Amino acid sequence: MTADVTTLIARYVRDIPDHPQPGVVFKDITPLLAHPTGLATVVDAITAPLEGRRIDLVAGLEARGFIFGAPAAVRLGAGFVPLRKAGKLPAATLAESYDLEYGTATVEMHADVVAPGSRVLIVDDVLATGGTGRAAVDLIRRAGGTVVEFSVLLELGFLKGREKLADVDLRALATV
Ligand code: AMP
Repeated sequence: MTADVTTLIARYVRDIPDHPQPGVVFKDITPLLAHPTGLATVVDAITAPLEGRRIDLVAGLEARGFIFGAPAAVRLGAGFVPLRKAGKLPAATLAESYDLEYGTATVEMHADVVAPGSRVLIVDDVLATGGTGRAAVDLIRRAGGTVVEFSVLLELGFLKGREKLADVDLRALATV
């Protein structure tokens, strides 16, 4: 029997304590990716609720949002947009910065990729403080796109990232 998505995430996303710095418990999705039905099951769970709704683009957040976002785009018959860390994209970009505990981080998108009126699904692996997701939503909206949904595998509920995204349809396949 094929395991359902909640079971797969519970069993195959592992905790790596003190990575990348002391005090952080890193949620490592690589065992899930290595499972024979892991990626397919997650992509099904992301896309199934959107069947019959128009999605023009899936925007994936670097880097693990690319792994789930690209096959989700294929499944939905949509294009794919990489949302990247600062300085990686070669053409003119739109950028949004957000606060980290120490300093700031920036998410960039090619300025010409989201046509006004586009309906966009944003995908990432983990929602933590919500800063990355907030920047992604603001980028899509600045370009004139509509964020249909922001979909993550795993929400770290205790960090309250959802509060930063109160104006967005946020869907987590699992919450811890
Ligand atoms: P945040 O902006 O705080 O919501 O962080 C979300 C982004 O950072 C996502 O792109 C995640 O891949 C990554 N991230 C943050 N915290 C973790 C964690 N504990 N485990 C794995 N990835 C994380």
